[in-house]
Amino acid sequence: MHSSIISRIEKARTYAEEKERVNITTLNATFRGNHSKYELSLDEAGWHCSCSSFGVRAMCSHTMAVERMLEGMVRAQETPSIS
Ligand SMILES: [Zn+2]
Repeated sequence: MHSSIISRIEKARTYAEEKERVNITTLNATFRGNHSKYELSLDEAGWHCSCSSFGVRAMCSHTMAVERMLEGMVRAQETPSIS
């Protein structure tokens, strides 16, 4: 394999371990919940989810779960602490 390709692959492996380099500013996704599939999005205004519980507090278990998956790469929303 060409040495520059090998060099890029090695660099990608290193970068993949360094999540702090990435800042996800917009995102569209679907979330397969236990009963339905929901549309999730993230933009400058924050998270949005199509589920019925999102509207009440502007957060839900789906957005919180995805935020947790992408920890460090998306701006954190205010989440109530669970002790
Ligand atoms: Zn939701």
